[in-house]
Amino acid sequence: MVYNRLKVLQDWFLPGSCLLCAAPVGFGADFCRDCEASLPRPGSTCRICAAPLEGAEDTDAPCGECQKRPPKFARVRTLFTYAPPVDRLIQNLKYHRRLELARVLGDRLAGCLASLNEPRPDVIVPVPLHRSRLRERGYNQSLELARPIARRLRLPLDYRSVRRTRATAPQTELPREQRRKNVRGAFQADNVFEGRRVAVVDDVMTSGHTAAALAECLRRAGAKEILVWVVARA
Ligand SMILES: [Zn+2]
Ligand SMILES: [Zn+2]
Repeated sequence: MVYNRLKVLQDWFLPGSCLLCAAPVGFGADFCRDCEASLPRPGSTCRICAAPLEGAEDTDAPCGECQKRPPKFARVRTLFTYAPPVDRLIQNLKYHRRLELARVLGDRLAGCLASLNEPRPDVIVPVPLHRSRLRERGYNQSLELARPIARRLRLPLDYRSVRRTRATAPQTELPREQRRKNVRGAFQADNVFEGRRVAVVDDVMTSGHTAAALAECLRRAGAKEILVWVVARA
């Protein structure tokens, strides 16, 4: 805690270094100019699931996948496309304890959401980790990302009412066709979401099955609408 406060003071008063290449950066900047320009911003995406659309697709209609199987969530908002060098930022946050990245990325995502002027959710729910994975990692990167978002958007953060009841294999390690099955029924929620609009926060959305499974669980717990906010979308 004390360390955190000192770090905040230090960030405030001392010029820092780029979070990607460590080059010196100006006052208050997180990335050097070149790295900032290299961050992959989403182009034309599905208005429901934020998957990148092929050039020929109609940008007003949902993607083929969402038309075939309408998701349980209303829409996904993403800051970046999951591509270099953002993949490295996420991996550093997730596996190398670079928790300062959660503050930077969460804060950026919040800024982007604030500028959209969309109806705000009633509560933010970070995608929970199973307790065995939490014990192993020591923190939940989704919760760490959700904290600055909740703070900046002045929204309540609820990280206790939903649990991951099954320790699932990481989605990225599974073949595509097994991912849905892997996370189905993996979450359990207390009955506190009746009639509420919930924003789910995660680091990355790949197949969307994790978000779908959590959305389904929240809907069963009474939530009326689910939004999904991620740092990067594959
Ligand atoms: Zn740089
Ligand atoms: Zn879609």
